[in-house]
Amino acid sequence: MPKTAIITSPITGLKMKIRRWKLRDMEHLAELADAADDGVDILSEAVKPCWIETLDAGIYPAEYVKVGTASAPDWSQLLKTDVLYSVFGVRIASWPDDSERGMTPEHYQFDVECKYCQPKYSFQQQVRLTQLKFLPLPKASAEAIGARRPLECRGPDGKLIKFELPKLAQDRDLVEFRNKKAAKGKAKGKAKPSELLAAQTTFIEGLKTQSMTDRVRFFAELDLADLVPIRNEMSKAGSYVAQNVDCKCPKCNATFAVKLPLQANFFMPSDPMEESPPEIEEAPEEQDPEEQDEEESH
Ligand SMILES: [Zn+2]
Repeated sequence: MPKTAIITSPITGLKMKIRRWKLRDMEHLAELADAADDGVDILSEAVKPCWIETLDAGIYPAEYVKVGTASAPDWSQLLKTDVLYSVFGVRIASWPDDSERGMTPEHYQFDVECKYCQPKYSFQQQVRLTQLKFLPLPKASAEAIGARRPLECRGPDGKLIKFELPKLAQDRDLVEFRNKKAAKGKAKGKAKPSELLAAQTTFIEGLKTQSMTDRVRFFAELDLADLVPIRNEMSKAGSYVAQNVDCKCPKCNATFAVKLPLQANFFMPSDPMEESPPEIEEAPEEQDPEEQDEEESH
């Protein structure tokens, strides 16, 4: 198996040469995934150490991505979907072929909790990473990114709204905003839709200030009829990524979709020994012979 691979993003045309994960990378990433801290940018952590060379900057301007080996892309400015695609590429290049268990390097097995079973029931779901489709950006969006220009849409009363497609830099802003709120005891649970939209927005006509707080308030004050068209415009401008995996609960047979989770075993294979212990010739030391007899008589 070659130690390097070429990843070409179907979203933006970004083309990179990468190396496989080393064990230390995988251990670090599995730890981060277990911690499940929103403040940790696990996507760029997963691809950063593996970058060797940029072969084609795709639609990105030279401020963010330079061709060659001298400097790595500015991960915070890449589209999140692009970074996600690269992480899949590194993962597939790094993974062993476990044909004994019917798992190719493209396979990923993760834990799903059934949405219907009571009491709670979890099962393992398999997905082939290459089945998740990434589609190219609309031309207008690609041009806007190349020119480092925000995209535009209209809100209620024709108000101009400028926004960018999801990128990791916005997560950083959002975490900062939420940490400040948390310090005042106001941020609980996951980021709200109004906060996510505000993080993606750079300008809203008619606001007193363009601060994150004011942008969040603007979205939070909208009613659904006003919000839906804005949201549709914003998502239409992005690249479509089918990240939903159809699952079927083996216990109740219910079918439902979940968004692909990046769990620890996405980054580090679980030990097959834990799943099916090998046959040990020696008798286990601590077993009481009487207990053993009892077990056998059942
Ligand atoms: Zn179920």
